[in-house]
Formats: sequence, structure tokens, C-alpha cells
Amino acid sequence: MPENLTEQITDTTSAAEAAPADSAPTTGAAAVDDGVDILFTDLKLDGRVLAALSDVGYEKPSPIQAATIPALLDGRDVVGLAQTGTGKTAAFAIPALSKMAELADINGGPSKNTQVLVLAPTRELALQVAEAFTSYAKHMDGFTVLPVYGGSPYGPQLNGLRRGAQVVVGTPGRVIDHISKGSLDLSNLEYVVLDEADEMLRMGFAEDVEQILSSTPDEKQVALFSATMPPAIRRIAKKYLNDPAEISVKGKTTTGTNTRQRYLQVMGPHKLDALTRILEVEDYDGIIAFVRTKMATEDLADKLRSRGFSAAAINGDIPQQQRERTVEALRDGKIDILVATDVAARGLDVDRISLVVNYDIPHDTESYVHRIGRTGRAGRSGDAILFITPREKYLLRSIEKATRQPVEQMQLPSTAKINELRLGKFADRITQTLSGEDVSLFRELIANYEQEHDVPASEIAAALAVMAQGGQPILVQDIPVAPAGQRERAEGRKDGFGSRGPTRTLTEGNATYRIAVGRRQRVMPGSIVGAIANEGGLSSAQIGGIDIRADHSLVELPADLSKDQLRALSRTRIGGELIHLELDKGRKPAAGRGAGEFKKPFRKDYPKRDGDTRFSGDATRKPRQGKGAGAGTGRSSAQSEQ
Ligand code: ADP
Ligand code: MG
Repeated sequence: MPENLTEQITDTTSAAEAAPADSAPTTGAAAVDDGVDILFTDLKLDGRVLAALSDVGYEKPSPIQAATIPALLDGRDVVGLAQTGTGKTAAFAIPALSKMAELADINGGPSKNTQVLVLAPTRELALQVAEAFTSYAKHMDGFTVLPVYGGSPYGPQLNGLRRGAQVVVGTPGRVIDHISKGSLDLSNLEYVVLDEADEMLRMGFAEDVEQILSSTPDEKQVALFSATMPPAIRRIAKKYLNDPAEISVKGKTTTGTNTRQRYLQVMGPHKLDALTRILEVEDYDGIIAFVRTKMATEDLADKLRSRGFSAAAINGDIPQQQRERTVEALRDGKIDILVATDVAARGLDVDRISLVVNYDIPHDTESYVHRIGRTGRAGRSGDAILFITPREKYLLRSIEKATRQPVEQMQLPSTAKINELRLGKFADRITQTLSGEDVSLFRELIANYEQEHDVPASEIAAALAVMAQGGQPILVQDIPVAPAGQRERAEGRKDGFGSRGPTRTLTEGNATYRIAVGRRQRVMPGSIVGAIANEGGLSSAQIGGIDIRADHSLVELPADLSKDQLRALSRTRIGGELIHLELDKGRKPAAGRGAGEFKKPFRKDYPKRDGDTRFSGDATRKPRQGKGAGAGTGRSSAQSEQ
């Protein structure tokens, strides 16, 4: 092994401490081309696997591959920590296949038994891993990889399992289902991989993963791959891995120190108001706000526009040409705010961006690093603000580690502060108008009015100020806490503010669903999130409050679930019980639901809702006209009245 490799293999303790391994935010081959002077041919791999690697065009192993493949070929348990995009899939797939190929030679053909089980957090990742296995196994005869995941019919998976698959790649919920149905026989299992272990934990699969691990044979090899090492993962590693080689690959820091990072604790439904307030007090040039889904880009851009900001959305569904035009508009200052998904903003390079808002927290630290790299460009200083909901707080430390910079907590600008600012701006407009405009015509008009109506000038000025405001109140207001009786009125508001405020109600676009498992079935919030996310093809972020009752539970989910999703979810099982998911018809949506009724799906080991930031929205705010528009607006409306 060449010398530089030993540096990447840290001892057990430091690997465990070194939570995220951060690397440059690049993808594919470039990401893994990181100065490892070792070739795949040095790694004692089976010739068929080597041939496949050369087919897919890999030149040499990535650092995590170079370090873990020998240990795995040796039969050791392995903990592999490396940032996203560093080639972890091949790191565990290549040695597994190489061993199976050699075993098949010895036994005169491949056995049909399931020898390898890979657990992955989502359907997409399971499919990706299965595809990777298939491509590396291209030259191995009689060899099958079967992905099994939630949200798709059991039939084909059952057939696949019956025919026999040497490698099964699955999401935890569905794997448990197959184990309990007896369709997945793990008695000949030799190798288990927990892929993207931190993400599995994040999605609430810890218990499922443990349940699966404890139903596998004692004699087996276990590998755990992850981008970060939260304590719960360390605990699982300790319990289920036998004297593992812990390998942590460090990447380069990519965030410049000229970007100031802050975070704001905010509940999901308050994010829009929070952003609005921040935009009012922060000095900014161009802004990019990151959200998690394509739909959310359009949604947030619409809402910002309706509040008077110049915002536009870019996402992967928008044709390339149009995306480019939007980016140009940002560059030229025709728009100020770009609302984007990670994919759409990849590589975006606009010097004007002075603030990055992580409206939805990114899925991994690499994305975070990439996102905030959109500001502080060309030697300028940048600002990054991260919205964190209480249950996301535990991710902060990984982010701080990835960027090697502290992320300071920021406070939401208060109602008083916003109002002070607005009054100040209004006064400035008066000053500017008096100094810069010819007001003689109006002076005469007012003087006449004062005499004719016998009204003091200050009264007239006040009336004119109201006119200048165009019917919009100048001050923002705290939203009153709506007692049950007043809620209907609050919810009737067109601006959507009724769904916010200190009393927890449904998030806009969500509905309450009922599932037929509750305390009696010993369900935990985590298993509900996991099962619903997987079987319904939802992201965990789309799953809102969960209220576990005695023999059923209420779950907040998007109101517009598709027929397929509903069908899949009605057949989903949690702990072996069918959940029969259905809309909770018995109750009016969002009615009378007190703050205590919905519980967010906290994991035991996550911080509780210690720092819920509750604040009132500013239902009455005047739409902002864009940067520095204050005085200009006043002028133009005065002129138009001439
Ligand atoms: P991770 O699981 O660490 O996020 P992946 O396993 O998904 O990363 O790999 C990221 C990308 O790198 C994939 O497109 C994969 O095909 C590619 N890749 C992996 N190993 C190599 C290699 N040795 N040489 C070139 N590309 C590689
Ligand atoms: Mg991966």
C-alpha cells in the first residue's frame, strides 16, 4: 500500500470523532480522482470484476475504495466514512462481487442463495446501488441483483426473490416485510451493508435496521458506509460490527472564510414569514434560496412575488434555455431572488449573489458546502442563512464540521424592529422628497386646503401619508393567538396567514390522515415516518406532525397524494400491522388542534423541541417594492396624482 494511503486511515477513535468527511463538491469520476497512486489491478480483485470496472471507465480506486476494499476482501467488518460522491457504492460492491465470483468458481457455479443484503434509505438509492452492482457484475454469469423497495407492488419482487437473487438491495421497511412474509431468506447471508447509514437514521430507520441485523446469521461480514457519524450510528456500529476497520476519508474544505454563516430556528410553517422579515432588514444584492423540491421552488417564488419581491424559480423541470435566461436576469439585477433546487443551481456562478438562504436544509453536508459556495464569490464577502426546524437541529454540528466554521445562531427580526425600520424608511422618504422634488404645487394646494377646511397641516400630512401607503398599513402586526372560536375567520384569510401563528395547525397543502396503528401496537414516530416515506415515495420532509393515539395515529401528509401513493400506503405495514391509511374524515382539517396534539417525529436521541422559535407573522405588511424602492415609490405615486 502506498504511503499516502495510511494517512487516510485513521485510528478507531479519531474516525469515530471525525463526523463528516468533506470533500470538494464535484461529482462522478472527478470527485474520486484524488491522488491515490493505486490501481484496481493492485487490489487482488477477480478478473471479471476488473473487466467490468474497465468497461465503466474507472481508472483507479477512489481514496475510500482504496482503503476499504482490501479490508473487506480480507473479511473484516468495515466502517467507511466519506462524503457523498466519493464512490462508496463501489467500495462495498466490488469486494462483495469479487468474492462471490471466486466462490462460484470453487462451487462450480453461483449459488442461488441471497448472500449479500444492502440496506439503503430510499427507493432511488436502492435502485442506484442495484444498478451499480449490476454493472460491476456484467461479466459474471448467472448472477442476479434484486432491488426491493416500498411504493411498488409486491408481485414482481416476490417473483424475483423466488427465482433467487444473490444480492438484494432494499429499503428497510420493505426488507422487513419480506422477512416477515418469509419471502426473503437470510439464512445464507454472508455480507450486510448499511449504505448511507446517517440518512437511514435521519429517516427514522434505526429500529428497522436493528431488527434486520438481529435477524441475520451471527457469522457474517458487516459494512457500514456513511457520510457522517452521528452517535446513534456509532452505537449501531458498536453493537453489530465486529472489530471493524474504521476508515475515514477527509476531503478539502471548500467554504471560504469570507462567507458568514448563520442559522435561524424556525418551524416549517413560519419559514415564509421569517424569510420576509430577514429580507426586510438584511442588506442584500442577489439572493439564492434553496428548497428541496421542484414544486417548492415555484411555490416559494410565487409567494415571494406576491409579497412584492422580485423572485424567480429554477428547477430541473424548467428547460435549460429558460433557466439560463433566469440566471441572466439575476446577474443583470432584473430579479433579486432565485429560488432553486440543488440540481438546478449546480455550478451557478453569479458574483452578485450576496446571500444564500437554505430555506430547506440540504440532505447532506456536501450540498450545504456547495450551496453556500454560491456566495462570497470573486473575493466578495457573502452571507449564508440556514433555516433549521427543531428536529433538524442535530444536523448543525455536521455542517459546522464540514465547513470547519461555526454557524452562529441568529434571531428573527422582531415585530418592533421591523416596524421601527419601516417608520424610519417612511421618514427618509419624506426627507428625500422634500430635498429632491419640486413640491411647490402641492404646497399651494395644501395651504388652500388648510384655510378652506380649517384643518391643521399635520392632519393633512397624516392623511397624505395614508394615501402614499396606497391603503396598506405601514406596520406589521403580531398575529393574534386565535382561540378555537376565531380560528375559522383566521383560516379564511386569503393570504394564508391563518394557518400560521403559535397554535400548531396543518401546514398549507397538507391534510390529516389516519392510520390504524397506535400506542397499542407500540408504533414509534420513527417507524411511521420510515414506512410512509418509503412506501408512499415521500421525503421525510413531506411528513408533518404525528399524533400517536391509543389504537390509531394521525399523520399530517400532503393533501394531494396520488391514487398510487394512497393505494401503496393503505397496504403498508408497520410492525407487521396493516396501517390502512385514509383521510381522517371524522375531523375538519386543522380544526381545534392544539399545540400539544401533534408531536413531531423526534428520534429519542435528537434534541427535543428545545428552542422552538415561535413568532407572529406580519399579516398586514406592505409588499416590498424591491431594494431601495422606498423613496421612488412615494414619488411616482405622488406624480401620478397630479
Ligand atoms: P457515494 O455513495 O460516496 O455518494 P457513489 O458510489 O454514488 O458515491 O459514486 C459517485 C460517482 O462516482 C458515481 O457516478 C460512480 O459511478 C463514480 N465512481 C465511483 N468510483 C469511481 C472510480 N473509482 N472512478 C471513477 N468514478 C467512480
Ligand atoms: Mg452512496
